[in-house]
Amino acid sequence: MPLIVQKFGGTSVADTQKILAAARKAIRAQQQGNQVVMVVSAMGHNTDMLVELAEQITDRPSGREMDMLLSTGEQVSVALMAMAIQSLGAKAISLTGAQIGIKTDSTHTKARIQSISTERMQRFLDAGNIVIAAGFQGIDEDFNITTLGRGGSDTTAVALAAVLRADTCEIYTDVDGVYTTDPRVLPEARRVKQISYDEMLELASLGAGVMHSRSIEFGKKFSVPIHVRSSFSDITGTMIVASPEAANQAVCGAALVRDEARITIEGVPDRPGFSYAIFSKIAARRIAVDMIVQNIGAEGRATISFTVPKEELPNALEATNEAAKEISAKAVTFDEEVAKVSVVGLGMAEQTGVAQKMFRALAEAGINIQAITTSEIKISVLCHRDQASSALRVVHKVFGLENEPANKLQPNAILPHGNGNTALEVVRHLQGMEDLTIDEITLDESQGRVTLLGIPDQPGLAAAVFEEIAAAGVFVDMIVQSFGQNSTASISFTVQQSDMPRSIETAERLAKRFGCAGVSSSPKVAKLSVLGIGIRSNTSVAMRIFQSLSEVGINVDIMSTSEVRLNVVVDGNKGKEALAILQQVFEPAR
Ligand code: ADP
Ligand code: ASP
Ligand code: MG
Repeated sequence: MPLIVQKFGGTSVADTQKILAAARKAIRAQQQGNQVVMVVSAMGHNTDMLVELAEQITDRPSGREMDMLLSTGEQVSVALMAMAIQSLGAKAISLTGAQIGIKTDSTHTKARIQSISTERMQRFLDAGNIVIAAGFQGIDEDFNITTLGRGGSDTTAVALAAVLRADTCEIYTDVDGVYTTDPRVLPEARRVKQISYDEMLELASLGAGVMHSRSIEFGKKFSVPIHVRSSFSDITGTMIVASPEAANQAVCGAALVRDEARITIEGVPDRPGFSYAIFSKIAARRIAVDMIVQNIGAEGRATISFTVPKEELPNALEATNEAAKEISAKAVTFDEEVAKVSVVGLGMAEQTGVAQKMFRALAEAGINIQAITTSEIKISVLCHRDQASSALRVVHKVFGLENEPANKLQPNAILPHGNGNTALEVVRHLQGMEDLTIDEITLDESQGRVTLLGIPDQPGLAAAVFEEIAAAGVFVDMIVQSFGQNSTASISFTVQQSDMPRSIETAERLAKRFGCAGVSSSPKVAKLSVLGIGIRSNTSVAMRIFQSLSEVGINVDIMSTSEVRLNVVVDGNKGKEALAILQQVFEPAR
């Protein structure tokens, strides 16, 4: 018998009328011949209210008690949902995370799922019940209640769909699908019919709050077709699948994280191991760092910046200050007023000109880019928070995201369930369902690096650089613009070795025109890429790379992270050695 998982978010169960409406949807699905598992969030803003209550008592509540508190929201809604279904004449039973057997680790308030037992759910389903599971919660080895992180009911839903081998996981919410960007911020945003796991994963982790990014990790790992749709209508929403029927666009969406904070460590003695000292302390606090950028400054001392979610700033600063002392760095600075704007698209890897188009549009709108990182399928820039919305609008416009792509998709196209068996095979080898999986580690020795040093802090520089490099017929791979005040920032990029002479020439010309401090380059670099699932959300990946490379004296020159890959650029003569080391480090996850 087909099985459907239906997840209802907070607004979709905000009052009893909405609970009854959701109950009717589930009953209808059952009457159509499906077994139905519902995953339900806390009603309305209940979780926010619980957070506020805790804040009225202490600003440092214990994680364990916070989870005890937050999990009550979902317990209320599952019970009401079961009553609603029963009152409408169908059979239903509500279950908490513990009752289902959702085992997690003990990282309170952001626990990761380790295993889920299906036996109990299956028994109730087989007896004709609609099973109503509390989202967002689990239980650790010691019977402590845990929660998965805000928005985590999506992850519960997709995880249940994965273990139950559901035919579809329907995410009912207050929008009718995934849009090119948050329609509440930009009304011109357009609903997309299909999107790939990789693109959705990036968008979600770069700020598209419509899905919890870890839910997409499950989707991808276990090939769960996810249908994001409206609770308030029956129209087809957006399918998240392995490979959408290609829409010929370089960019499929844009996202904004308004509340970021930047931390910079200045005057770091430039020797292997300093990054490890910093990021091991951050990872120990389970903080996912983002946009790691570094540059070599004066007197062989480096500057490293990274961003963290604003609410993690105090915690991250504590860790950074400890590390700064250990490695005798000169200063730690931070900025709480930054926002990150990103564009995402699988087509970006093949198309040139995406970066410069974005940088030019931002420059023309007078938006100063404080830092840049790119990976194969995304570009992120950091700007001042006051300019965040206009930056998003500008970027959305320049890529024409409001327009339907030329390559039209079939309406109602629902892709079949993918390679579920092999995914389950993989899982048997994983201790925890959310463990890191590494698909591949690659080495690219074909590139060189060019760096413009001491760039002035003004809009338009990045646009000019990449326009002129493109005009010289050069395809740029990685781009990193580091943060720095008083002309201490730099822009580095990598190109094919055969393009180095033209690239250096262009960079030197621009350095003169813009009054940069100079140009440095490396004729041959080695780019190593670690590809898999959970690369960024497993906070230890970057740290393990820094650690293992520093142990053998290999310095990381540039790095970029995304949800599905982490790239590091090292000395061109150290590529093979670095590859062997990374293969050894990540062997257990392969
Ligand atoms: P739920 O409570 O159902 O989980 P959320 O509030 O978590 O709902 O997610 C839905 C919201 O996500 C929408 O109301 C919308 O404002 C926001 N959102 C952000 N980015 C996007 C996007 N790219 N597409 C659709 N909605 C988005
Ligand atoms: N109720 C939780 C939250 O508000 C989980 C969720 O809704 O997904 O974050
Ligand atoms: Mg949500």
